[in-house]
Amino acid sequence: MATTLVTGEVSGLEVAFEEQRERLLPCVHCGFCLPACPTYTRLGDEADSPRGRLHLMKAVVEGRLDPGSEAFRTHIDRCLGCRACEPVCPSGVEYGTLLELARHTAAQHVPQDFLTRTLLFVIHSPTLRRGAFFLARILRHSGIAELGTKILPSIGFLRNMRFGMAMLASSIPWHPQVQTTASAPEAGRGGQTKHSTKRIGILMGCVQEGLYSRINKATARTLEANGYEIVAVAAQDCCGALHAHGGDLEAARGLARRNVDAFSNAQVDYVAVNAAGCGAAMKDYTTLLSRDPDYAEAAVKFSERVRDVTELLSEVGPRSGAPVACTVAYDHPCHLLHAQQVESGPLRVLEAVPGVDVRIVEGAEECCGGAGIYGITHPDLGGRIGSDKVDAVCRTSADAVATANPGCMMQIGAGLRLRGAREGVLHPVELLDISYRRAGYYEGAVGRL
Ligand code: SF4
Ligand code: SF4
Repeated sequence: MATTLVTGEVSGLEVAFEEQRERLLPCVHCGFCLPACPTYTRLGDEADSPRGRLHLMKAVVEGRLDPGSEAFRTHIDRCLGCRACEPVCPSGVEYGTLLELARHTAAQHVPQDFLTRTLLFVIHSPTLRRGAFFLARILRHSGIAELGTKILPSIGFLRNMRFGMAMLASSIPWHPQVQTTASAPEAGRGGQTKHSTKRIGILMGCVQEGLYSRINKATARTLEANGYEIVAVAAQDCCGALHAHGGDLEAARGLARRNVDAFSNAQVDYVAVNAAGCGAAMKDYTTLLSRDPDYAEAAVKFSERVRDVTELLSEVGPRSGAPVACTVAYDHPCHLLHAQQVESGPLRVLEAVPGVDVRIVEGAEECCGGAGIYGITHPDLGGRIGSDKVDAVCRTSADAVATANPGCMMQIGAGLRLRGAREGVLHPVELLDISYRRAGYYEGAVGRL
């Protein structure tokens, strides 16, 4: 007997299937999703396609396949969870939800591998993750991460360690060249197209606050500069996305409840998220907590308030800042484009910076191979997909690559680092923040975060 995805009660995919019948049945086996699937296009195996994985889930549901079998676990585990199969599906199969259910069911029969369990355990504990990210920042700032990238051999587990070091080394801020020829605008130029009076609580996130706290600060500053009121939200926690994707739905539900309480108590109008994977998970708390009598209703209200930061900025303009002359390649995070259907928000943010030449990465809609912890737990396939992405980024000849998810930033950043490529990596709001600084919008402002 296993545990269900949504109910958290008894039994496994079998019962969940009954409850999720509408999600699993619509697949008409048309195969439209196959060319969109990065694992299928790389491996050419039907079982590593969305259609094949749905077939395996159905076999488990009908009792023809053991959910603990290697065949089931291998192909479900190999899925990136990128959800590129969803928008191309004419039947509207909600693949992401089914995948989490399948992973959870498999994990009830055979525990996840040691590395996955360790990473999820550390992220789940505020104390352990604070310690882990403190250590990570030491490795980054001391230059050990950079050195490790150069000297560690690419063999065995050292290859994984080398990649991890490259991820850390790539997480340093990127600064565009100071533009001396273009003049800064007068203060207030490009002023707010609308003035919002909305109260915003920002999700700090675990990886985001641990390695990219500068993005959280840039998020607060740019939202404030566009008229939003930023409210500190105490007692918030990790969003639970990594746990849900990894099959630990009980841990994901516990974290979701904490966030619903924390942001509800703060009485915010919107929850601003600057990490695509976190935003997608929080917009789906509705499903995750739908069978929890104490939280189902609150989860619906919570999810309705979740916005990517670029959605909020786009809603009011955003106002333009001072020129920053550079070329930026933009790559869509899967959980922003496919899971949240946010395509134009990040581009509007980048285009609000005068002087920026934005170039969309060829195949920007395809996963970078990072996919949460996939880049670490699946170095071969994740590395292959990541390598194709880095090729596409390099073909843009841009100064930097922008994307709106920390996992993607690290995956692409590590790939660039290991090649000795010169491109920087940043979140779109970082560039807007630099532009606003140069325009003097923050003069006299007191940092809230
Ligand atoms: S596109 Fe949708 S309906 Fe067609 S095979 Fe894929 S999941 Fe099934
Ligand atoms: S989520 Fe991504 S990797 Fe998984 S089946 Fe869908 S397209 Fe393929």
